[in-house]
Amino acid sequence: MASSPLAPSWLRVPEDVNALSASVWSANASRSTTGELMVAGLSAPELAARFGTPVYVVDEADARGRAADTLAAFQREFAAVGSSATVYYAGKAFLCTEVARWVAEAGLNIDVCSGGELAVALAAGVDAARLGLHGNNKSLAEIDRAVAAGIGAIVIDSLQEIPRVAAAATRHGRRQGVRLRVNSGVHAHTHEFLATAHEDQKFGLPLEHAAEAVATIRGFDSLDFYGLHCHIGSQIFGSDGFAESAARLLAVHRDLLPGGPVPELNLGGGFGIAYTSADDPTPMDELAREIARIVASECARLDIAVPRVAFEPGRAVIGPSTFTLYEVGTTKDVEVQTDAGGSAVRRYVSVDGGMSDNARTALYGADYSVRLAGRSSDAEPALIRLAGKHCESGDIVVTDDYLPADVAPGDLVAVPATGAYCWSLASNYNYLGRPPVVAVRDGVARVIVRGETESDLLARDAGLDAR
Ligand SMILES: *Cc1c(COP(=O)(O)O)cnc(C)c1O
Repeated sequence: MASSPLAPSWLRVPEDVNALSASVWSANASRSTTGELMVAGLSAPELAARFGTPVYVVDEADARGRAADTLAAFQREFAAVGSSATVYYAGKAFLCTEVARWVAEAGLNIDVCSGGELAVALAAGVDAARLGLHGNNKSLAEIDRAVAAGIGAIVIDSLQEIPRVAAAATRHGRRQGVRLRVNSGVHAHTHEFLATAHEDQKFGLPLEHAAEAVATIRGFDSLDFYGLHCHIGSQIFGSDGFAESAARLLAVHRDLLPGGPVPELNLGGGFGIAYTSADDPTPMDELAREIARIVASECARLDIAVPRVAFEPGRAVIGPSTFTLYEVGTTKDVEVQTDAGGSAVRRYVSVDGGMSDNARTALYGADYSVRLAGRSSDAEPALIRLAGKHCESGDIVVTDDYLPADVAPGDLVAVPATGAYCWSLASNYNYLGRPPVVAVRDGVARVIVRGETESDLLARDAGLDAR
């Protein structure tokens, strides 16, 4: 079948419109002999009947496996160059007490970037010493609470923050471990990276101010300097951006050594995942090997020991584990003018969620894919746009993909790779309740975050009490 003239150039007409590409779907997702989407032994129609739609469905073994594999890859590759690696799960991708326990049990530490995220990690029972706190504008209360809890490290993001953290440490009789966030001037996204002398952004200090900031940190007895920290972007596919950033950081790292110990280097997160069949991220094993090789060779060139290295993946750990299950409510064929001056039909398929449960398409123009979940179909592929139900024309979940042309109201559809930055960015726009999160493992499904009800939506409306 010829592709639709409305399709973007990267989107191929699928050979099998029912196929679940292994790069995009979680490890335990499959299609049953009767055509239903299955995850870890449960079918999409069973899940929809039990939990309603929309629902985020997490393949628990997949998430735990990715956490463990990521840690193993970095530990193995950095051991091979005579060092070690620590991996922090970036909680902002998706955090609840269950997920905090999964990643902690897999041996990862956790990064949090607000008092709320800290509260969730602590409520999960994760040892505070395994937590790190980020953020360019942590409140005094957040700093105090983190220090009081015994947090492992605080990432200093501005000069003003140094005395604030030092004072909190003194108040609590602690010596607080800190990293210094710097801006390496490298910004990476997917296949490209941009390297400038100065990047126009709010995070971190310019590299040339690092020495002065570290001297200030070292001047406080209550602070223990661990090393430099940097995060160069997200959804990065190769190692080139990390290589450039590591080289820039290590040059400064070396200059800091005569003034005192610098045991660590934190290179942040940002490892990309596949959202569509056109995405081909470098496998984590390979990425870890390349980054370890680059760090080791740069250290050799600078004649310094390879420091302990830390990473902070969020998306790569949780993103591929989850799909969002929706029910189709309406379909509509819209005649659209093509660039060539002709016309073609775009089929809008509207589901019972949208930008409230997945803001990334509207927010960043992110690409996703979609498959029929309740059945398979022999119908020809038709180009569709999966729209939500919100009062906003930009309310799109999947901008372009093919579904069987007989897709109809009542069909279940599933959008894969929604584990990261979907629930965590969810809103109550149009007073839709945020959907539940259901974990499935070995044929057992359980709610790990309850969905919101209309009572939840009214619970904070003070006007109700005033009446
Ligand atoms: C967002 C963020 C991460 C995680 O990014 P991913 O793209 O999810 O891997 C790690 N570190 C810092 C400082 C971040 O801001």
